[in-house]
Formats: sequence, C-alpha cells, structure tokens
Amino acid sequence: MNGPATGPVAGPGRVERRRGLPAADRTRAEEDPRRPAGSRSDLRERFPLGVWPTPLTRAHRLEAALGLGPVLVKRDDLAGFAVAGNKTRPLEHLIAAALRGGAEVLVTGGGPGSNFVAAAAVAARAAGLECELVIWGDPEGAPAIELARATGARIRPTGGTERSDVDRLVAERAAEIGARAYPVPRGGSTPVGALGFADAADELAAQLSGRRPAAIVLPVGSGGSCAGLLAGGLDIPVVGVSVSRSPEEIRATVLDLADRCAALRGTAPPRPELLEIVDARGPGFGAASAAETEAALLALRTEGLLLDPTYGAEAFAEVLHRAGAPTRAEPGPDSRTGLAEAPIVWWHTGGVLPAGAWLARQGSIGSPAPAHRAPIPSGRRP
Ligand SMILES: *Cc1c(COP(=O)(O)O)cnc(C)c1O
Repeated sequence: MNGPATGPVAGPGRVERRRGLPAADRTRAEEDPRRPAGSRSDLRERFPLGVWPTPLTRAHRLEAALGLGPVLVKRDDLAGFAVAGNKTRPLEHLIAAALRGGAEVLVTGGGPGSNFVAAAAVAARAAGLECELVIWGDPEGAPAIELARATGARIRPTGGTERSDVDRLVAERAAEIGARAYPVPRGGSTPVGALGFADAADELAAQLSGRRPAAIVLPVGSGGSCAGLLAGGLDIPVVGVSVSRSPEEIRATVLDLADRCAALRGTAPPRPELLEIVDARGPGFGAASAAETEAALLALRTEGLLLDPTYGAEAFAEVLHRAGAPTRAEPGPDSRTGLAEAPIVWWHTGGVLPAGAWLARQGSIGSPAPAHRAPIPSGRRP
C-alpha cells in the first residue's frame, strides 16, 4: 500500500534508540536476528530528511514566452531539507547506512563550492553524527563551507587544488578514526547513495500517471543522481548534462554505479541505450557560458526558478534546446492531460545557495522590462 514516496523509512524513533545505546549494546542490536545486516529490506531504509514527493509542475509561462513544447519541472530545489536539493536523496540512504553500521563520524569531502559537503554536514548533525570534511582549494568564506561550519562540522583543507586528493584523504582519515567512521566519496555517489534517485524514479512514475515523456534532462556531476534514475528502471530516455567530466568517462561511471545500485535493489540491470550524455563542460567547471546565463535569467523571469551557474544553467540550456525542437516522439493529444506532445521532464536539482550568490554577483543584466506579459488566469482577476 505504500506509495513510492513513502516506502520503507528508518523511523526517527528507531534511530534515536540506537544512538542512545552504549557501544556494546549497539552491536547486539545490530545483530538482532530479525533484522539481518545488509538485507534488502535494510538497504531500502531511509533516514528521513526531505519532503516527498517533490512537486512536478508544468512551466506554462516559460513555454508561452518561447513557444516551446511542454516542459515539466521536477522540483528537487524544493526537497525540503536545508538547501540540499538533489543531495537530500542520497543522504537519506547514506545516513541510514552509517547509523546501521554503528558509525559516529561521517567523513567526506569536495570543493569549497560543493553542495554535497554542506548538505552532508547538516544531515550528519540532524542524525546525531559528527562530520569531518576534506576540502580542496580555499575554503575561507565559501557559503557552502560556512553552512557546514555552522553545524559544527570540522573542515580539513587538503592544502592543494587537486580534486582527486579528496577521496584518498577521506579514506585515510576514516582509517585513522577506525570503525566509528563512515567514509563517503565526493558527491555521495556510491551505489548506496544512488538508491535515493532510484526511489525518485518511482516517485516520478507515480506523478506521470501513465504519460511518457520524450526525455528526462538533468545535470551530472559525480554521476550518482543520473545512475540512480537509470537503476530505477523507467522506460524513458535519460539525458545527463555533464558539467565536469568527459562524456566517455562519466558514461562509464554512471553505468557502473547504476549496475551496482540495481544489484543492491535486486532489480533489473539498467539499460545503457536509455542513457545519453551531453558535454556541457563549456567554459569550465562552475562557469556558465553567455547562453547558459541567458537561460538562467529566463527561468528566473518566467517561472521564478533559481539556477546555479555550475549545474542548473547548463541543464536548462539543454532543456530549452530540446523543447524548442522536440523530437515528436509520441504525437497526438494525451487523453488524461491534454498535452499535445510528449513533454520534456527537466530535473531541477537545486543549487539554490550558489544561485543566489551568482545572481548577487551579476548586478542588473538586461532590460528591466518584463520579456512578456502573462495572461491573468480567469477567476483570479484583481
Ligand atoms: C551535485 C549536484 C548535481 C549533480 O549530481 P551528481 O549526483 O553529483 O551527478 C546537480 N545539481 C546540483 C545543484 C548539485 O548540487
């Protein structure tokens, strides 16, 4: 009877009780024969953080402004936990796994602008875990790092700018701490973390109630979100907009993660033919091209959506491209929705904290006049 968004959840009560036990008793609780460690039902448990389902909305004003085909927006920017966006989903599974294993310290890392490290710190604190963050580059004053610090997380700069040092130093630090540590690589993109987006595939399927979109478009960084979606087994093409890695590298990473995630879930392996990767590295990680900047402002001015320059603007530019010249995959009106064409699902992954900072840096761009005037909905005339 459970809907997809209310699947098995690690209830706060149960986790509370376990956190309160002395170490020896906790071990005994973990060995409870009714809950074999690592069983599938365990793996589907989540530590509840977000508010699900996130809305699926139609971007009517955007469509009207540009004459686009139907665009549905999956609002993971409204995931309901801090400003964690899409990172809320993997963290529900990663935190649950850490607690199940009796861990007391979450050890992870990333760059100074990483939404994952900020979200991981807030989630760890909410679950009663300590948090240590290995950060490349200069962490001073970065909003994501300040947010993490506000939760009490310890920041450990690598002292260099080499990103790949992070995962090695996370593993080293976790080994130093020992059994109390739960190490998580950059972005939370492990098979366990990807379970979060496999849940999200079920969540979306329920919201589509039979409609079949032409594609789901989402930005791809470390690949866990895209991998989870594929592992979720929807019969919908997934377009991953890669912002930091070459298409070849990220495709292999996503498919490998999706395979291992599906194996954890005990579901069918992902279908590689449903995955398309778009190369959006453009002017470099964290930088938006002029067209992407324009796209982000359009999303703000038509739909009130905040897009960040690293992920959101890139993916949205791809959405515009596809919705403007859509493959009329399944033409003809849909009896339930009245949609004339197969919609594009645009996964808005969040990034609200950097989006605000980015807009603040832009100053006033372009004309202050509205690009278009929206019709006043009937029945709501002033
Ligand atoms: C992390 C992140 C992504 C990419 O997700 P991955 O699972 O790392 O591929 C996309 N958008 C935003 C806003 C993010 O913070």
